[in-house]
Amino acid sequence: MHQTDIFISGAGIAGLTAALALAQAGFRVTVADPTPPVADGADDGSDLRSTAYLQPSQALFARLGLWDRLAALATPLDVLRIVDTAGDPPVLRDTRDFRASDLGDQPFGWNVLNWVMRRELTAAAQAHPGVDLRLGVGFAGLVQRTTAALVTLTDGTRLSARLAVAADGRDSPLRDAAGIGARVTRYGQVSLAFVATHDVPHANVSTEVYHEGGPFTMVPLPDVDGRPASAIVWMNPGAKAAAFARLPTEELGAIMTARSAHVLGPLAVASPIRQWPIVIMRADRLTGERVAVIAEAAHVMPPIGAQGLNTSLADVAALADIVARAPGDLGTPSMLHAYARARTGDIHARAAVIDLFNRVVGSGAAPMQAARLMGLRAVHGIAPVRQAVMRAGLGGRGPAAADQPAKAAP
Ligand SMILES: Cc1cc2nc3c(=O)[nH]c(=O)nc-3n(C[C@H](O)[C@H](O)[C@H](O)COP(=O)(O)OP(=O)(O)OC[C@H]3O[C@@H](n4cnc5c(N)ncnc54)[C@H](O)[C@@H]3O)c2cc1C
Repeated sequence: MHQTDIFISGAGIAGLTAALALAQAGFRVTVADPTPPVADGADDGSDLRSTAYLQPSQALFARLGLWDRLAALATPLDVLRIVDTAGDPPVLRDTRDFRASDLGDQPFGWNVLNWVMRRELTAAAQAHPGVDLRLGVGFAGLVQRTTAALVTLTDGTRLSARLAVAADGRDSPLRDAAGIGARVTRYGQVSLAFVATHDVPHANVSTEVYHEGGPFTMVPLPDVDGRPASAIVWMNPGAKAAAFARLPTEELGAIMTARSAHVLGPLAVASPIRQWPIVIMRADRLTGERVAVIAEAAHVMPPIGAQGLNTSLADVAALADIVARAPGDLGTPSMLHAYARARTGDIHARAAVIDLFNRVVGSGAAPMQAARLMGLRAVHGIAPVRQAVMRAGLGGRGPAAADQPAKAAP
C-alpha cells in the first residue's frame, strides 16, 4: 500500500491550491482527478467561468510563490459599478460606482479565466516535489480508521493517508463515502457563463446590471483578438437560460446588449456558452474521521459578489495554517475540530447573505425592486457604510488570519 501524508480527491482550482499549500507546509500530498487537463479554452469541458480573486486569495497565491506568474494573466478590478434597471426592454434607473481606491492602493480583486488558472496550477503542482498529481485516475473508495484514511483509486491503487481532503466538487464522492450529507437550496435559476467582446473598453470596471431574474455581470478580461473583452455571468430563470443558450449568437448578442443597458456598447459572444444551475449547497459537516471537506464539496453559492471560490480558498488557507502549526496532529480529531471551528461560521454567514441578496436582486415584485434601488442608494450614499460593505465583500481579513472568528460578507 502506498503511504502518503495527505490524499486530495479533486484537482480543480481548490484541490490544486490545497495541494500546493499543504506541500509547502512540508507534507507529502497525493492528488487524484479523473478528468484530463485542459490546455485551451476551446477544449471540450473547459471551464469558461472566470474568478475574481479577492485580496485574501491573491495573498494566498503570493504566499505560495505563484502570484508573479498569475498577475500577468489577470485583469485588476478597480471599480465595481452597479447599474439598476427595470422594465422590458431594460431601462437604466441608476448607476453607482464603488472604488477600490476608497479602501487603499490595491484593486478589489484580479480576474482570471478558470481554465487558465487550472492550467497554471496543474503545471505548478506537477513541478512540486512534494505533490504526486495523478490525472485520469479518480477516488473510488474509503475506509476510515482512527489512525489513517485508506483510499482506493479507480485504477486499483491503494493509499494510506493521515488525512483525506474532499475537494471533488459539488457531488463530492469522498464526502459521500465519509457519510457526510449535504443540504441544497434551489432557485430555479441557471447562469450562462461565457466570454463576450465589446466596443467600449472596460477600464478595469466590473459591472453588475440588476434586473428581475438575476444579475447580469461583466467582469474585465484581457483583450480577445484585439477587442475589449469581459467574462459574462448572466442569471435567468432556468427555461429562459436554456432558450437563450440555443439562440444563434448574433441574436443572443442583441438580447444581451439590451440586457446590459448598453453600458459597454454592443456585446458579441466570443466563446462557447456554459450553463450552471444556481444553488446553495452546504455539507452537513466539514469533517469526518480522518476526512476534511473543502471548497464546493463543502459549499456551493450563487455567483454573486465573487464569493464562491474565494470562500474555498479561505478553507484552503485555514487548513494549511492549522496543519502547519501542529504537523504531528495531522488528521487527528483536534486538528479536524480546529478546521471545522475556523470555517463553519464564515461559510454559513456568506451563504446566508448571498441567499438574501439573490432573492432581493432577482425578484420581479415591485416592492422588492424598489427596495433594491433604495438599498443601493443608501449603501452608496453614506461613505462609512459604503466602505464597510466593500471591506466585508473582500472577506474582511487575510488568509493568515483565516482561523480567526469569521465576519459576514455580502
Ligand atoms: C457562473 C459562475 C461564476 C462564478 N464566478 C465566481 C467568481 O467570480 N468568484 C468566485 O470566487 N467564485 C465564482 N464561482 C464559483 C467557482 O467557479 C467555483 O466555486 C469553483 O470553480 C469550484 O472549484 P472547486 O475546485 O471547488 O470544484 P471543481 O472545479 O468542480 O473541481 C472538482 C474536481 O473534482 C473532480 N472529481 C470529481 N469526481 C472525482 C473523483 N471520483 N475523484 C477525484 N476527483 C473527482 C472533478 O473532475 C473536478 O476536477 C462562480 C460559479 C459560477 C457557477
